[in-house]
Amino acid sequence: MSRSVLVTGGSRGIGLAIARELKEAGDDVAVTYRTGQPPEGLFGVQCDITDSAQVDAAFKQVEEAHGPVEVLVANAGINKDQLLALMSEEDFNAVLDTNLTGAFRVAKRAVRGMMRKRSGRIILISSVVGLAGSPGQANYAASKAGLVGFARSLARELGSRNITVNVVAPGYIETDMTAALPEKRQEEIKKNVPLGRYGTTADVAKAVRFLASEDAGYITGAVIPVDGGLGMGH
Ligand code: NDP
Repeated sequence: MSRSVLVTGGSRGIGLAIARELKEAGDDVAVTYRTGQPPEGLFGVQCDITDSAQVDAAFKQVEEAHGPVEVLVANAGINKDQLLALMSEEDFNAVLDTNLTGAFRVAKRAVRGMMRKRSGRIILISSVVGLAGSPGQANYAASKAGLVGFARSLARELGSRNITVNVVAPGYIETDMTAALPEKRQEEIKKNVPLGRYGTTADVAKAVRFLASEDAGYITGAVIPVDGGLGMGH
């Protein structure tokens, strides 16, 4: 039976791959997009996740089209990299507000319907950087580590309602961001990855598809690395 799925930041990159994967699995998939156009073939709702009123309006549109959200993938994220000594408070807060508080806003709105239904899946997209740290990414790493504590608290709060909450922690994934790195840096990164390559957006999407599936019904509070072994399970 098709479920109502919402993927935030589903207009490109990893979010788009997740949305397409879940659609292929037979779900009714909606994506949020902030700028530009909604992706072809997917139900798009415009939403900036730093604004609770926009989050509420987006959920209302999805509920009208597909019913209450049964699977939430909180994927939208940004980075504003800088060494700590040079990092502004504004850039620190902006990254936290999108990556961590943004996940709080959408999860809080989604659990309403899930609690009523006594079932649901919440999947938060973190990063290997959240657990390993990364110079120049203190704000980003803090936001991604925060998602783990957030998810595990929700897993404890919501387990009795048959709602699972899990984290996916991708490593280096082939996206515009990683392609823009100098060739030498790319080779260095790959040397540290036991599988010797970047991940693909499909690698991440397949893990999310599993966590969203019936087969993952007894998994909650987990952090699933999709990083080619870079973090060694953290
Ligand atoms: P992209 O930069 O390609 O896409 C980010 C998405 O998030 C876009 O759809 C963007 O919308 C959306 N977004 C950003 N800010 C907001 C906001 N305030 N409100 C709503 N939507 C917003 O990122 P990736 O696909 O590379 O990454 C997706 C997730 O995976 C992120 O959380 C990232 O931190 C994480 N990740 C990525 C890795 C990688 O190697 N790429 C590795 C590990 C984790 P818009 O198009 O309008 O800007």
